[in-house]
Amino acid sequence: MTPLLAVEGLIKHFDSRRGVVIQRSVGTVRAVDDVSFHLSAGETLGIVGESGCGKSTTGRLVLRLIEATAGTIRFEGRDVRTLSRGALRALRRDMQIIFQDPYASLNPRLSVGDMLAEPLRLHGLASGADLRTRAEELLTTVGLSAWHALRYPHEFSGGQRQRLAVARALATRPKLIVCDEPVSALDVSIQAQVINLLKDLQSRLGLAYIFIAHDLAVVRHISDRVAVMYLGKIVETASTEQLFTAPRHPYTRALLAAAPIADPTGPARRLPLEGDIPSPLNPPPGCRFHTRCPHAQAQCRSEAPPLREIAPGHRAACHFAEAIAAVEAAAETVPPPPYMRRLTDYRRAVAALAGR
Ligand code: SF4
Repeated sequence: MTPLLAVEGLIKHFDSRRGVVIQRSVGTVRAVDDVSFHLSAGETLGIVGESGCGKSTTGRLVLRLIEATAGTIRFEGRDVRTLSRGALRALRRDMQIIFQDPYASLNPRLSVGDMLAEPLRLHGLASGADLRTRAEELLTTVGLSAWHALRYPHEFSGGQRQRLAVARALATRPKLIVCDEPVSALDVSIQAQVINLLKDLQSRLGLAYIFIAHDLAVVRHISDRVAVMYLGKIVETASTEQLFTAPRHPYTRALLAAAPIADPTGPARRLPLEGDIPSPLNPPPGCRFHTRCPHAQAQCRSEAPPLREIAPGHRAACHFAEAIAAVEAAAETVPPPPYMRRLTDYRRAVAALAGR
């Protein structure tokens, strides 16, 4: 069966320039480097990674908001990169985006009704009195009221604005929505409301999402599959269950270890990731993670590991994924080292003092 979206060997390089009057090229930023994935109708693919790993650029490339340097993007079998302007505009009905900042992504000069009517008019989906009816329907679909159509974006809270952004994305009845950090700018309680709204809309309308975020808990909650990106490359991809219960790439393991622990009396976790992400202007040779990887060997410094299948539906880009998993499984059967024991004792003491 043809997937809704198939991305193969996607590459985006930016020319980096310096100079105030006369600008000169100082190198190439390898923002996205040979990224491949696919997405089925009604499915959610989460993309996670640190800032600057290329996840938002990937989302924008899929929608052709920026042009790719190389690679293919197929939506329902059509090659998105070779479409004419007219064909691309028609395709945009099926592919929409929700941006991170609901304060910047809504036009402050348009009333909500006009803002929602705009894409309907542009794509010839409604006219005349139907525009207002459809706008009011969209508002009720996202949990707002029909009379909100008369208001302006500045009259809404952050969570309500993000609901407006969702309503605008839904206006053309798309099949795919790229959600680019849609809840990162919201309070935690509001985040849950927006995530639940997205899940509810997906089950009602059969939408597919590419959900880009750095919050692992949010990605786990909403995604069917997850791709982990590091320095422009996918380093691990698996079903959500596989990725969170049996991560195989050292970077994924470090990301999970760095996530906050809800239970201070629970077992101590592995030490979190250290060091900064290298510059995409000059990525390390071989495995791009080798400058931060505690398991790096000589081979890692010279040979880039391919993204290979290590279990059904589970792929990781690490030369030693299986060996590392075996060593770490064995290590969990022996007592933790002294510093880990001290950390656990300290957490227990804090919990006891707090009366837990
Ligand atoms: Fe670490 Fe080497 Fe695996 Fe890269 S290939 S993640 S450096 S062990």
